[in-house]
Amino acid sequence: MLTKSFKLITLLGIPVTVSWSWFIIFGLVVYTLATGYFPIAAPEIAPPLRLLMALISAVLLFACLLAHELSHSYVAQRNKLPISGITLFIFGGVAHLEQEPEDPGVEFKMAIAGPIMSLALGIFFYFLSANLYSFGAPKFLFSITGYLAYLNFGVGLFNLLPGFPLDGGRIMRSLIWKLSNDLRRATMIASSLGKGMAYILIGLGLVGIFQGTLINGLWLIFVGLFLNQAAEMSYRSVLIKRFLTGIKVRNLMTKNVIAVPADILLSALVEKYFFKYRFASFPVLSDDTLLGLVTFHDIKEVPKEEWGSRRASEVMLQLKDDLLIHEDEEIAVALQKIAHNQVGRLLVIDDDKLIGIISQRDIMKLLES
Ligand SMILES: [Zn+2]
Repeated sequence: MLTKSFKLITLLGIPVTVSWSWFIIFGLVVYTLATGYFPIAAPEIAPPLRLLMALISAVLLFACLLAHELSHSYVAQRNKLPISGITLFIFGGVAHLEQEPEDPGVEFKMAIAGPIMSLALGIFFYFLSANLYSFGAPKFLFSITGYLAYLNFGVGLFNLLPGFPLDGGRIMRSLIWKLSNDLRRATMIASSLGKGMAYILIGLGLVGIFQGTLINGLWLIFVGLFLNQAAEMSYRSVLIKRFLTGIKVRNLMTKNVIAVPADILLSALVEKYFFKYRFASFPVLSDDTLLGLVTFHDIKEVPKEEWGSRRASEVMLQLKDDLLIHEDEEIAVALQKIAHNQVGRLLVIDDDKLIGIISQRDIMKLLES
């Protein structure tokens, strides 16, 4: 699955994960470098060495993008905003903020930190290339550093485009927020600009394709589509957070939860629960103790022949903090947890006892009503 990711390393106390989709992009970057960029920048170098250069450059580029995200996270942490992790994917990465900044000043500092890092790296690699060149270093070395200079400038400048949720859009939002004292309005304006920017990129991409630069054109369209979706989603998430303030999990959860016994066979579980009630998952109990959550997805992973011999407790998701929430928590907190746990729901507990269940749909229904 493209949405799955795995943990790479922990830096500044922040877990860094990589989305599988990132590998596709990594491959594309290496391909573009080996067949498009280096043959022009260093035509006398043999193709196998060029491939190696492309690989090294892509890895270093990835490190630079990580530095960009880490500098956002560093400023966030200094301002007591918790960061739950950094995920590297298509266009570099995203740092996951647990909550939005409380004031425009913090947002401004946080947003500008990333582009400053990228521009500083650009300057560093520029001078490094110039020095390597004047000291007569082999061409493959300063071709790589030259590329990194060029790309870090590109990343820094691209992120400064004033469309939310790009860094430039966040800077813009913080300024409008400061002037108008209205976060909702500031977000609306900044994300409209983000969408406008997205349409411009898509338009430029189409022009590129008609002019025969297929790969560049596709890249632009791809970035544009992504930005358009991100602008829409971040605007909605700000609205949701504002609107849901004060509503507790208790107010929206489903009581009288249907739970399944831990020792039930998968065949019976499918027959008597999944087909009958048509829920996507059930809490698993042993006597009165909550053990975990079993999803239909987990059962599908088990070959059908084994459904008659394996039990719910063997395939369920073990109880973890990201599956649980207390009834007194805010709905916005529940939504954040749901967004991370990939099962679309949370078990509601009180004194370690299961008292309800809440799903993303329960919350969305409220928003649509
Ligand atoms: Zn950034």
